[in-house]
Amino acid sequence: MASLKPFRGRDAIQIMPLIAMGMVVMLLGVLLWLLHRSEVEDEQRALIQDILWVEQNLHFHLASDGERLQQLAARLGREGPNSEIFDVQGGALLENSPQVGRIVLRRADGSVQRMLPPVESGADSDIDPQWSDHITLARSTGQLTYGSPYPSAKRGWLFEIVVPVFHAGQFVGVLAAQVSFDVMLLHQVPWWFTQKYRLEVVDGLGTILAAKSQLPLVDLGPSYQLHFEPPGQGLSLVATLYGTESHLGRNLLAAAIFGLALSALWSLVAMRRHMGHRLAAEQALRREHAFRKAMEDSLTVGMRARDLEGRITYVNPAFCRMVGWGEAELVGGAPPMPYWVPEDMDQTYEMHRAVLRGDAPPDGFELVFRRKNGERFNALVYEAPLIESDGRHVGWMASVLDVTERKRAEELARQHQEKLQRTSRLITMGEMASTLAHELNQPLSAIASYAAGCLNRLGQGDAKAEELTPPLSKLAVQAQRAGQIIRRIHDFVRKSEPSVAVCALNEVVEVAVSFLEAEARKRCVRVDLILAPVSPRVVADKILIEQVVLNLARNAMEAMGHVARTERVLEIEVSAADGQALVRVADQGCGVPVEVSANLFSPFFSTKEEGMGMGLNICRSIIEAHRGRLWFEPNPKGGSIFQFTLPESGE
Ligand code: ADP
Repeated sequence: MASLKPFRGRDAIQIMPLIAMGMVVMLLGVLLWLLHRSEVEDEQRALIQDILWVEQNLHFHLASDGERLQQLAARLGREGPNSEIFDVQGGALLENSPQVGRIVLRRADGSVQRMLPPVESGADSDIDPQWSDHITLARSTGQLTYGSPYPSAKRGWLFEIVVPVFHAGQFVGVLAAQVSFDVMLLHQVPWWFTQKYRLEVVDGLGTILAAKSQLPLVDLGPSYQLHFEPPGQGLSLVATLYGTESHLGRNLLAAAIFGLALSALWSLVAMRRHMGHRLAAEQALRREHAFRKAMEDSLTVGMRARDLEGRITYVNPAFCRMVGWGEAELVGGAPPMPYWVPEDMDQTYEMHRAVLRGDAPPDGFELVFRRKNGERFNALVYEAPLIESDGRHVGWMASVLDVTERKRAEELARQHQEKLQRTSRLITMGEMASTLAHELNQPLSAIASYAAGCLNRLGQGDAKAEELTPPLSKLAVQAQRAGQIIRRIHDFVRKSEPSVAVCALNEVVEVAVSFLEAEARKRCVRVDLILAPVSPRVVADKILIEQVVLNLARNAMEAMGHVARTERVLEIEVSAADGQALVRVADQGCGVPVEVSANLFSPFFSTKEEGMGMGLNICRSIIEAHRGRLWFEPNPKGGSIFQFTLPESGE
């Protein structure tokens, strides 16, 4: 559940702009509505003011017509219905008031006395059908009255302004002026009013008696109705506002605002989606990073990065565990590193410089490092250039393996292998016992011949002690040697560890050659001994190595049995190279035939009549037990070269 919390927060953050944008749109709508309302109110106010003005204007004209009519009626009453006065003043009234279409003078009985403009007989004079009512009203009130509207055939709706005519206090008739609504509106309503409004005169039943407008009646706005008094009679003036173009502008503006808001909303949604994609990518990246970190942390191989100057820029947890120092203690550190071993400092520095030069062995190298607690361990280090994604070489990356355990295991395996070899050799030891005879044959026959020589001298009777001493001491040496051979072979068979010690190989070979002198003389073989300028030091059981040299030299001399005496040269050479000491025993004898070479080192293989066929087999076992190698090659001068290597001792 805890993991849901941040998601809720994130959703709220993403939804906030949408809510804000929605509120902006809503407020814009309210603002537009308020603007619209105030505009409508302004229009309404202007409409009322304008219609009141028009009503005042019409009222003024009708009042002034009524006044003039009253003046004419008063004059006619004073001076009698004189045609001249009626024509002159009536004509002036008609001329000044275009809405007054006709003036009629009636007698008290209702008959028409005069009329302006005059009407030919039979023509329509648009006489008010209620004229008798007017006479009655005028007589009774003695005041100006307005008649009800009535339709006429040619001039639309008309009404009459009626004033009574009194002569010497006597009611003598009425004077009536016919007023046309259409003409009144046409002349007395100004142009600007009709640009904005349509003006109508309607009666109490809603019948439109006259109207004035300049635009077709398509889009009408608000209207206002006002009593039209005078003439009264339930008449009203109705002004209706035309639909204004400002609405179109406002609507366009509103549409633009809403359009913009919508596009902003859309871009917000698009941005949210884009953010969603980015977030997903970010999360994937974070997961990937966490996975890589987990991989790095669970590595058992130590990883270490260094910059081009050799400063540590990164170590993984495995490396920290290996050396015991924490990441904070190691990163940024420059050589000498705390885990370098003081006694190997020079060698480690040399390797460090080789790495920075790019000369590190590509298949890794071994160093001894120390842990924080002082413990030493063998580290196998693989160095590789650290190349950034843009191809820049920024440092060196190393993987470090603690191989102490492995080395210990290898050593154990090697010792085990040695034991196995020894065991397998033990199996052949039975046969080796018979070899003893072969090995001992030489010293014993030497002893026998020295003894025979001494006895001869003694038999002759003139033997002096100083003459007998050298052969007798040689005899003693041979007897000792025979004893040593037996003891060594015995030890070799029994001992669990070879009795090895550091020895100078030159000396070992020299001793072996000294034992050969007598046999070489007998076989007329010249022995050339070439020793190494500096004697290689090897860790070996020197008696066994002497034995090997003796065996190889004896085989070589036997192989030269059938060649000319002058060519019987046995060359024994000691040398050293690449940490390996080499002993070569070269003869110029019969050589090793191909069919023989395959079995050369097999036990009991011999081409000699009295041969045991154990010599080479044992020699190889001895050399291999010393971690060396024994093999043979044909000698370019004829014959063969038997040679073996032994690892040089570091001490
Ligand atoms: P043996 O000497 O008793 O025969 P070895 O194991 O010493 O047994 O030798 C095995 C065989 O290897 C010999 O019989 C011989 O044929 C061959 N051989 C050994 N050394 C030489 C050599 N220097 N030149 C030619 N043949 C050799």
